[in-house]
Amino acid sequence: MTIKWDVLKSKLAILADAAKYDASCSSSGSQRKRENGGMGNVEGMGICHSYAPDGRCISLLKILMTNFCIFDCKYCVNRVSSDVKRARFTPEEIVQLTLEFYRRNYIEGLFLSSGIINSSDETMELLIQVAKSLRIEHKFQGYIHLKVVAGSSQELILKAGLWADRVSANIEMPVQEDLNALAPAKTIKEATTSMDQIATRVEEAKEDQKKFFKAPRFAPAGQTTQMIVGATESTDSVILHQSQDLYKKYSLRRVYYSAYSPIPHADAFLPRGEPSLVRENRLYQADWLVRFYKFDAKELTSTDAPNLPLDIDPKTAWALRNRHAFPVNVNTASREELLRVPGFGVKNVERILQMRPFRRITLLDIGKLRIPLKRAKYFIITQDHNPDVYLVDANDLKERIKPEDKQLSLFDVKLSAVSGDL
Ligand code: SF4
Repeated sequence: MTIKWDVLKSKLAILADAAKYDASCSSSGSQRKRENGGMGNVEGMGICHSYAPDGRCISLLKILMTNFCIFDCKYCVNRVSSDVKRARFTPEEIVQLTLEFYRRNYIEGLFLSSGIINSSDETMELLIQVAKSLRIEHKFQGYIHLKVVAGSSQELILKAGLWADRVSANIEMPVQEDLNALAPAKTIKEATTSMDQIATRVEEAKEDQKKFFKAPRFAPAGQTTQMIVGATESTDSVILHQSQDLYKKYSLRRVYYSAYSPIPHADAFLPRGEPSLVRENRLYQADWLVRFYKFDAKELTSTDAPNLPLDIDPKTAWALRNRHAFPVNVNTASREELLRVPGFGVKNVERILQMRPFRRITLLDIGKLRIPLKRAKYFIITQDHNPDVYLVDANDLKERIKPEDKQLSLFDVKLSAVSGDL
């Protein structure tokens, strides 16, 4: 087949741009080795990660097959009623682009999504065709992330996972009422049913692989989803409870929070301005607290304050609301108690626990671990430091420990979402 590169280039400009609104790609969690005569490989956790300053993954060729869609989701620039310029790749064109970009070392893999062409199943079949061709005909062993097209049949979802490292079904909104308002053709139930099917098959494949050497792999990097933040009035509390539920029920690797980006000729229902990127960052921080710090979503917000504070991180905010739990003795406290100290990250808590049998930990030791003492010192007791209880209860404690006001850097904002240290 002859590829017209100038045509491809103009399609690429449209379809790569249209794909940037989907935040749910990240090339972690898969290992795939090059076979004889094959091409590419996926290294272990994190090797393929690359984040643009705005936090979106750039190491993958991230494109849509088409930005035409029969659905009319109000928050989406590709909806049927949008008057954007349209384009469509053929499966063969995507295969060629992926291979060429890979050979030139531009990318480590492919993230492929699409608007819905004639039907969900027809579109999903085309996405699968790309992945299958890359794997079978071209022995491509790089990373592939396929989006599950809303409304696809179970049979096709299960086929997608055979060729892709990761699959993702976007839930888009935390509750059905939000979908009813903005994307009435979609349901939470449909998305969670897809997640359930993927989660079940991932587990079955893992079991099969323990028993049979050649058992087929299924989405070895698991599944993710995306929630759009700020397009409706749903609070952080609602969003975090939904995420916690999804993690528990469907073993998701990540929930990606994507601040709603205003689109041209948007529906009057949608907010005109951009939602705060700090809000997106606070949600990522709270998400880490739920996944790695054993917080429950309900501890991070309250009925009176259903949104996360923007001026302070959610763990510090929790500590300020729960001062009776402090100060914590670093030399005797449990892992769970240490994880709740502002500034104590998961790795540093492990280091402290490893040090304890051999020495009494001092404030200097805490400083050497690069834990921010400005924040942590009010909440801990060490061998040589015992903060005045008055200070822990002081009205101005928040002001003392608050980070200095400074110009917001998009890169910094996303960094804690990557490192997870809080
Ligand atoms: S189904 Fe997807 S591509 Fe189509 S309008 Fe909705 S969000 Fe956009």
